Amino acid sequence: MNGYGGNILRVNLTTGKTIKEPTPPELARDFIGGRGFGAYLLFKEVPQGADPLGPENKLIISSGPLAGLMIPGAGKCDFTCKSPLTGGYASSSLGGMFTAELKYAGIDSIILDGISPKPVYLFIDDDKIELRDAASLWGKGTIGVEKELKEKLGEEFQIAVIGPGGENGVSYACINHDYGREAGRGGVGTVMGVKKVKAIAVHGTQSIPVADVEGYRKAGMALFKVCKEADGLKPWQDYGTTIVVSWCDEVGALPTRNFSAGSFEGGKTLYGPVMREQIVITDKGCFGCPSPCGKYSRMKRYNTNVEGPEYETIGMLGSNLGIPDIQDVAQANLLCDDLGVDTISTGACISWAMECYEKGILTMQDTDGLELKFGNVEAVFKLIEKIARREGFGALLAQGVKKASKKTGQGSEKFAIQVKGMEQSAYATHNATAMLLAYMTCDVGAHHNRAWAITYDLQVGRDLVKPEKVARVIWLQNFRPMFDVLGACRLQWVELGIDRDLYVPALEAITGVRRTWEDLEKVGERIWNLTRLYWARENAGFGREWDQPAPRFYLEPPKTGVTAGQITKYEDAQKLLDMYYEQRGWTPAGLPTPETLSRLGLASLVA
Ligand code: SF4
Repeated sequence: MNGYGGNILRVNLTTGKTIKEPTPPELARDFIGGRGFGAYLLFKEVPQGADPLGPENKLIISSGPLAGLMIPGAGKCDFTCKSPLTGGYASSSLGGMFTAELKYAGIDSIILDGISPKPVYLFIDDDKIELRDAASLWGKGTIGVEKELKEKLGEEFQIAVIGPGGENGVSYACINHDYGREAGRGGVGTVMGVKKVKAIAVHGTQSIPVADVEGYRKAGMALFKVCKEADGLKPWQDYGTTIVVSWCDEVGALPTRNFSAGSFEGGKTLYGPVMREQIVITDKGCFGCPSPCGKYSRMKRYNTNVEGPEYETIGMLGSNLGIPDIQDVAQANLLCDDLGVDTISTGACISWAMECYEKGILTMQDTDGLELKFGNVEAVFKLIEKIARREGFGALLAQGVKKASKKTGQGSEKFAIQVKGMEQSAYATHNATAMLLAYMTCDVGAHHNRAWAITYDLQVGRDLVKPEKVARVIWLQNFRPMFDVLGACRLQWVELGIDRDLYVPALEAITGVRRTWEDLEKVGERIWNLTRLYWARENAGFGREWDQPAPRFYLEPPKTGVTAGQITKYEDAQKLLDMYYEQRGWTPAGLPTPETLSRLGLASLVA
């Protein structure tokens, strides 16, 4: 099939057997690739009620038809599984160089099934596929293991690896690659760990079939040209996602001390230009990227290096913990990466614990002697280690903030900042109704990347509760994740303002199938509804109660910063949900109606 590697690789870890099957053309037709493949395969193949940490759960790694080709940032793949953090759908995107190599090995998806009796790594060198012993790698940090495997196998191998967090069953363990790129959210690394897969090493030499080589060359060149000529290229390349730290601080969206405010009085020392001047050594990009947003940094105080920190990490391990020094934040970033835990969830769990400590709900007896005051850098470093090793107090936080707050009680659930069990990423939403709704309804829990709607809030009025805001969130949710389906980065569209229609001829030339963005949005809507069905199938009583915002955003207006005194009323949050369900074609309880399923071609799938 044009644009595809052509195969799905199934790895049964229990028996050690691997088989390659042709990628079904109807799967490519209806779900296209990446996140679409993952959502479909999860729904069809993981049995209802499967234990996320049991052998029946599958870790599905999929690329899309643009991946590995000369299209800007076309090096993205998606990791899907039943989430050990939320009990619902998990999907996390990975950049870097891994995906292209997977395509060159002729693989569209890897499905990891079962549980290996001993630690292994999956070795793929074109058609040579083996499970190799990983006993000597188990227990080691991600960065050292990636280096070790590259030295052993060759630099041409691309490695995805888990750290002690994934081995030890931290609910939000991540998968690392290229010394600092992560599939971070939802516990995809936890599932890899429970399957006893330490790493995947891949190298391929096969070509990807393309329907119209000259058309592909022209369309690809046109995309690179507009990226290179974009006004936003220079600042984006200089600062990457840290470009928004100052903006978030100024508009009251920068999470501060467990989201109790949206502006941080020490924020200026975390801004992009300060970071660039103080710690950045060089820029770093993913496969085929004309606008490298990755930053490689050196922390002189610690004599260490890290890729990062990017915006989310600065928010969650910086301002949200009351830490104003970029070197400290970068060091915490390095610890999380090497230990293999998601920086967003880790930061959120620690900030919740700090608030509990400052309110007297937790004492030093609970925290293994750590003085968990906001801003205590040494305590943060120690706690990251404890979380990754599930040691003492760290074992409580390793379960995620929803479970930790439920166990702790004493009202601490009210300041556990999460939706559906996933810790909210780094946008404070006291008064930003579209972004709040985006978090409430996101298909994996409170994550920003499906619908980054906060700029729209500022554009049309942040407290507006109107159908057009809801429509904007739905449009973003259907459209933005399609980049994860196609296997390309969305940031050239978001940050450089590249016309999305330029991707249409490229996709057509590569696959031989013409799809407009309207066609793609319909596929996005199909995937969105399928994942909603998955949540409902796996969780009795699933619906509106699962879409509620963290109480802080309707109960406690910030005392400081530009959003001081501002919140979204609870009734307004419910009105937003009502409008959302109606516009999506869902029942008032938040489930797709039979008509909606039929319109999207999903009725037979759930029959
Ligand atoms: Fe990777 Fe950033 Fe380039 Fe996107 S913009 S492909 S995330 S380096």
